Amino acid sequence: MAYKFVDNYREKGARKKLVALLRDERKIEDKRVLEAVGKVPRHYFFDETFWSQAYKDIAFPIGEGQTISQPYTVAYQTQLLNVSVGDKVLEIGTGSGYQTCILLELGAEVYTIERQEKLHNRAKLFLEKMGYKAQFFCGDGSKGIAKYAPYDKILVTAGAPFVPEIMLKQLKVGGTMVIPVGDEKSQKMITVIRVSETDYERIELDTFRFVPLVGDQAW
Ligand code: SAM
Repeated sequence: MAYKFVDNYREKGARKKLVALLRDERKIEDKRVLEAVGKVPRHYFFDETFWSQAYKDIAFPIGEGQTISQPYTVAYQTQLLNVSVGDKVLEIGTGSGYQTCILLELGAEVYTIERQEKLHNRAKLFLEKMGYKAQFFCGDGSKGIAKYAPYDKILVTAGAPFVPEIMLKQLKVGGTMVIPVGDEKSQKMITVIRVSETDYERIELDTFRFVPLVGDQAW
């Protein structure tokens, strides 16, 4: 795929409209999240032929049977994650790297893992070219990444059959995990807060449809 880094008035205008849609129709309230969406050129993640699709509120194929998440889903999960500047965030499912950029725009220190080597290589190279700095890993993220734990936040961007226990243990006390949990057709967005060494608070929210989390602690 040939990437082109041109961000002209047409794309900037479309991006503004997307931010307005997320705010006014989709009811995303967190200004910092909206600002981040307004900053990251989502069309850079598309072949130029498909730039007209980049600012629609839709998921889009990125190859290897995977998708760049719908902007609403990215904004919704990011809002739930409530990222503070300097937070150490583990993202499971790098995919295109778009969500990674949103987290970086919020000032997070991002550790991101993708199981598909082609996507991992592409996102790593591509974000570096864009000037975004994250720690990229290739492998099974359903087990988290114990080596760099604990994390302030953990974000899972693929649908899991359950909340992996091993991942919960990698959350700091006071930390938050956001993970879609359900079957292959639909998942409930779950927020888990680690309230103490041994206790977790779980909140179940809206229904989404993600590609499956595949791995040792998943499908
Ligand atoms: N956040 C991505 C973006 O902004 O483009 C979208 C991610 S896509 C919906 C989900 C990704 O999770 C896919 O790229 C898939 O290959 C990856 N994935 C699935 N199971 C995984 C696992 N166990 N470890 C790491 N990545 C996984």
